Amino acid sequence: MASNVAHGKCLCGAVEIKAEGESMTTVACSCTNCQTCGGTTYTVNLVYPKDTVTVTSGMEDIREYEDKNTDSGRTVLRRFCGRCGSGVFSQAEDGRLFIKAPILKGVSRRSLLPTSTPGTCRAGLRVPRRETN
Ligand SMILES: [Zn+2]
Ligand SMILES: [Zn+2]
Repeated sequence: MASNVAHGKCLCGAVEIKAEGESMTTVACSCTNCQTCGGTTYTVNLVYPKDTVTVTSGMEDIREYEDKNTDSGRTVLRRFCGRCGSGVFSQAEDGRLFIKAPILKGVSRRSLLPTSTPGTCRAGLRVPRRETN
């Protein structure tokens, strides 16, 4: 059966995930919480539908932070590796999953660099389609 599966792992490699199917969109977020949490000016996330992301290794190393103090007022469950601190993915209240784009294999680092217009999301960022068996 052919399907599109993206694989990713944290910095230390303890936590591995896979995402099945196509990502819905790409979101570059520069809210204060993402900046503080990531230690960066913005984070880039690939957004996947509910229930499409599976932790394939290191479930016991995943820590969760229930982020209630968000700009939108909606709770975001931020999941990260308890060993190396890498953000792995977050979950919105509606179940959508926001995977930190840099952890995914096959995402070009160049595609994550800022665009010429500050705050502009690079639409259409995708991990390459690959066949699995
Ligand atoms: Zn780790
Ligand atoms: Zn944010």
